Order: sequence, then C-alpha cells, then structure tokens
Amino acid sequence: MSARILIIEDEERIRQFLQRGLSFDGYRVDVAADGQAGLELARENPPDLVLLDIMLPGMDGLEVCRRIRTASEVPILMLTAKETVEDRVRGLDAGADDYLVKPFAFDELVARIRALLRRAAPAKPQVYRFGDLELDTGTRQGRRGGRTFDLTAKEYELLELFMHHPRQVLTREIIFDRVWEYDFGGESNIIEVYVRYLRQKTEVGDLPRLIHTVRGIGYVLREDE
Ligand code: CA
Repeated sequence: MSARILIIEDEERIRQFLQRGLSFDGYRVDVAADGQAGLELARENPPDLVLLDIMLPGMDGLEVCRRIRTASEVPILMLTAKETVEDRVRGLDAGADDYLVKPFAFDELVARIRALLRRAAPAKPQVYRFGDLELDTGTRQGRRGGRTFDLTAKEYELLELFMHHPRQVLTREIIFDRVWEYDFGGESNIIEVYVRYLRQKTEVGDLPRLIHTVRGIGYVLREDE
C-alpha cells in the first residue's frame, strides 16, 4: 500500500502542484487549505507523512505542528517562504522533522519525503528494469547492452521518472514539475537536451530507441513498435 500524505497549504497553485505531482508518483494524497481542516483530516485519515506550510490563515503551521505532535509521531515536513535560522529553529522546536524553503524543486521534495518515510520504515536500494534497460537506485547508474553508464543528477532524475512510468506518455508539464523547479520557463529546450543525453547513453552500439518523442505532447519510455 502506498504512503498517505496530508498536504496543508493555503496557496492553491502550490497545493495543486503538490497534489498533482505526488498523486502521479503513486502516493495517496489528502489536501487541506487551512490548519483546522488539516487537523480534522489527520484525525479521520491518519497520514504517513504531513507536508505543512508555516504561513497559513488563522492557526499557523507552527501551532498545527504542535497540535499534531500531541497525538502523533507522524513525520512532518515544513514548507515555508521564510528562511532565517530563527524560523528554522522554531519549526524544528514545534516538532517538525525537516524543513524545505520555497521555491523548491519537486525532486528535492520527493527526496526529502522518501528519506522521512524510509526513516519510519527502512527500504533497500532497488534496481528498476524496463526491457534490457536497468537503473540502480543505490549506485545511481544505468545499464544496457552489457554496459554500465554513469548519469548526472538531472539525467538520473529524468531516467528514474521514465522508469517509474513505463509506457506512459509524460507531458512536458509533468517532466518540468518533476525534474526542474515548478517556476522553470516552459519555453526552454532543456527537456530535449536531456532526452538527447539519455539517448546517447542508452543507445550505444545501435541499440533500439527506448525514449520516444510524442510530438506536441512529451515523451514515453517504450519498446519499438
Ligand atoms: Ca501559505
């Protein structure tokens, strides 16, 4: 069963960004736009992790955090636009486990979420496979055609996204959300550039293409038709 994540965030754009990305990644997601609604949801459907914005209307995130802590040890990841040491200390004092400053990249958020969930329930590194392509989450290397290749951080994240969603068309919007910051300009050709890097590494020796372009939409990991 996938982990249940409760998002308490008043800013609609960010709430939807988080909900869309985390649902797409297979988490069960509950959302609340203020602290009171968040506390009620946490009681009704106890989450495995809470994403908690500090600046909320009415009861602020620090108070929400303290109240959750009176009843639960659930991991709490604080989100905030503030970044002073004092704010950070106050968040951790209130019982938060980790702290992420806006704006953040979605992949960093997911890495923090995985780390917090792992701390609660340790998991082993795994190897994703699609056809003859492998991706090792421990060494962060790929392997195909009897040859192991290294990946830069962004190449790894992009390939991991494809491996998590085989045969599923990934829109440019989803790829931007997941691999680059959510404010990243959509006009850039950075996705094309990184897909080209991945093709160079996965198609050595004329191996058939796995990462296909879906014109006008995005990309898909699939075997040749
Ligand atoms: Ca806010």
